[in-house]
Amino acid sequence: MQILIHAADAKQWQTAIASALPTAKVMTSNAALEDRQNADYLVAWQPPSWLFEEQTGLKGIINLGAGVDSLLNNPSLPAGIPIVKLRDAGMAGPMIDYVRYAVLHFQRDFDCYARQQRRFQWQEQPLVPKEEWGIGVLGLGAIGARVAQALSDDGFPVHGWSRSPKTLDGVTCHHGESGLTALLGQVKSLVTLLPNTQATRQIINAETLAALPVGASLINPGRGSLIDEAALLEALGMAEGEESVDKTDGEGRGRLRGAVLDAFDTEPLPADNPLWGHPRVLITPHMAAPTPRHAALDQVIETLKAWQAGEHVPSVDPAAGY
Ligand code: NDP
Repeated sequence: MQILIHAADAKQWQTAIASALPTAKVMTSNAALEDRQNADYLVAWQPPSWLFEEQTGLKGIINLGAGVDSLLNNPSLPAGIPIVKLRDAGMAGPMIDYVRYAVLHFQRDFDCYARQQRRFQWQEQPLVPKEEWGIGVLGLGAIGARVAQALSDDGFPVHGWSRSPKTLDGVTCHHGESGLTALLGQVKSLVTLLPNTQATRQIINAETLAALPVGASLINPGRGSLIDEAALLEALGMAEGEESVDKTDGEGRGRLRGAVLDAFDTEPLPADNPLWGHPRVLITPHMAAPTPRHAALDQVIETLKAWQAGEHVPSVDPAAGY
């Protein structure tokens, strides 16, 4: 079995895979051309087009992340090759922490207290109990389901939404278009953990934002493509093209209370993007849930062994886009 790695830390992956599969030949994409020929399997994060033009005998691809949008959008990706993505692989834990922090940012009024501090203002805000703080989680996949259940265990009423019907302990599950409308009307924080597909593109738009109760908040660690940024700015109370709203205050404009955003259409987020300057937006640089190598390695090895043994491994549905 010949395995080719394409990743920022390819050398470490090469060492780890070679030691787990001693009979395999493990190569990296930055090796000399003669040392990276005829791979059977590609283990990669965002491989460049030239790799597919060069490797014409691939039998399977392992995507070193949960999101396969970049891979599926690669114009040189050959059709018909099974693609396996990481499922949780240690990402759900950090994602739960990220979303929990973001929910508490609004539910415990930390956003408000940060603004009050800038005004030297000592004023306690009335506490909305968790039981009255509905949370919507869009996407109940390997990571989304864990996030929804953790928030439910924390005591929040949680509503989840997926493409197919689901049952999850402690979570009111919705699906389909009518399910989304039902969910939006009852949540104070909306968390987007959907993949980037044709069907989810700009799913957070003027219409969906208007369906949220006034004062709701948006938390997006999913993908930038899920959000219509102009509609988000409008809902936050800032028109497109306006440089910034009042930086010292930022209260009282727009129907959306605030947003915590980790993923963007263009990354890094360009310096002239008005979201940077918005006083009710918290921006993080796509750090919500990095992939820990040890957990990912277990899944990579398991998949390679199964493929070697001729077993079927559940793979990405290119038509659905995830
Ligand atoms: P999965 O692929 O396991 O699950 C995707 C979920 O979205 C499924 O529940 C699926 O429904 C649902 N879904 C897909 N399309 C639709 C649709 N059109 N309508 C309704 N529901 C839909 O993804 P993960 O949970 O592993 O990860 C979710 C996303 O989180 C990733 O795609 C990635 O973009 C992002 N991510 C971000 C990270 C970060 O650091 N910021 C790190 C890791 C992931 P169904 O169950 O019916 O198939």
